[in-house]
Amino acid sequence: MEAGDAPATSQATVDQITARCTEAGVELVRFLYVDHAGLVRGKAAATRTVPQRLGTGIGLTVAMQAMTMLDQLQPVPGLGPVGEIRLVPDPQTFTPLPYAPGAAAMTCDMLTLDGTPWAACPRSLLRAVVGELAAEGFAAQVAYEPEFSLGRRIPGPAGADEFVPVDDSRCFATTGFGEAHEFVLDLVRALNAQGLLVEQYYPELSPGQQEVSIRHAPALRAADDMALYRETVRGVARRHGLWATLAPKPIVGAAGNGAHLHVSLWDLAGGRNVLYDAGNPLRLSDTGYHVVGGLLAHLPGLLALTCASVNSYRRLQPRSWSGAFRCYGLDNREAPVRVVSPLRGDEAASVNLEVKTVDATANPYLALAGVLLAALDGIRNRTDPGEPFDEDPADLSDEERERRGIARLPETLGLALDVLERDRLLTAALGTTRLRAYTAVKRAEVRAFADVDAAAECAAHVSVF
Ligand code: GLU
Ligand code: MG
Repeated sequence: MEAGDAPATSQATVDQITARCTEAGVELVRFLYVDHAGLVRGKAAATRTVPQRLGTGIGLTVAMQAMTMLDQLQPVPGLGPVGEIRLVPDPQTFTPLPYAPGAAAMTCDMLTLDGTPWAACPRSLLRAVVGELAAEGFAAQVAYEPEFSLGRRIPGPAGADEFVPVDDSRCFATTGFGEAHEFVLDLVRALNAQGLLVEQYYPELSPGQQEVSIRHAPALRAADDMALYRETVRGVARRHGLWATLAPKPIVGAAGNGAHLHVSLWDLAGGRNVLYDAGNPLRLSDTGYHVVGGLLAHLPGLLALTCASVNSYRRLQPRSWSGAFRCYGLDNREAPVRVVSPLRGDEAASVNLEVKTVDATANPYLALAGVLLAALDGIRNRTDPGEPFDEDPADLSDEERERRGIARLPETLGLALDVLERDRLLTAALGTTRLRAYTAVKRAEVRAFADVDAAAECAAHVSVF
């Protein structure tokens, strides 16, 4: 697939960003990207140099897209010590950082030295997929719905620090509003100030677990928002002397953190949610069913992009509301594809599909690109998703699940990668360079954690996600 081109920056935009830096006392502007390991990384430019850097970008070694979450560089042809790309920021994403006074951030495309999208740039891939959707007359509205755990950082005697949750409050229990209150207020203000408009907040199931959801946005913006969200959660916590993590399973045995992906599709011409049909029992249109069909068809391979870490599979278990068995259903929270019931009075706009097999270790650009490609594939092939399912699949016997075509999704990152490598749609879209680098990074992470015990694996993911 051709990577999408970023629009050029005008002088008016440069002036506007300079003025905003002056106004907010910004000394450093962070140029952010998300790598194949799923980490948000970046370099900061001194504000004085930003007008120039908006055009030229900042240099980055090609090797960074071959780096694991443990900073172990993998041997990938063309992504070694020789070679350079440019991190070129999208000025639309400029935002002062409320949790880091004096700093601002922009998310970046990775461009080659001659200014074209690099074959391993995640953001350019998503931009291209958005373009493909538009060519078919659709635009996606998307919201990542991340959960995270709030705790304190206790220095470990040896090795990783220990994560100690701030409370032991119960699910949605008002006691949970207590310990986290000042932090959450600051988080809400910080998210809103960056244009990530907060929708809801509640204490979630496991100790110290929180959910703060933000408003949906066009696809590229929603992926940018996810990167900024992760930065903000950890940054605000730090200023409160706390430690926050979006790792899928921070504590062995306690509920995990998902980052469910809510998607609706709109027709470009009329601004209508094409997933909606008032006359259908699930309020889902034919197009909606085809999208579900496409998602279910590609879900096992997609998993390598959406549940992208070894730790992801500790979360992705039956009876965990994370979608361990391949099926879909109306408000079925054990289904990886939940058809979300519409809000009364706002039916046509509110019907959406929630993909539950997603967490914050995913590269938000790659995961969303994969999900949208699967959706589009379902529309193009008019894929039949079969019957909706309104039970907990874990309640069925193996034989019954088999009879109804409800398979267990890959149970490890290694198995998900095997399926990804066989998924023709996804491999073609990723392209050789990206697929080779991504799978090298992920397979190295599988090897790195193969002999690590559960607690140490969780701790390692807490410390970086
Ligand atoms: N924590 C669950 C997960 O890992 C989700 C619970 C919910 O439905 O909000 O995905
Ligand atoms: Mg939740």
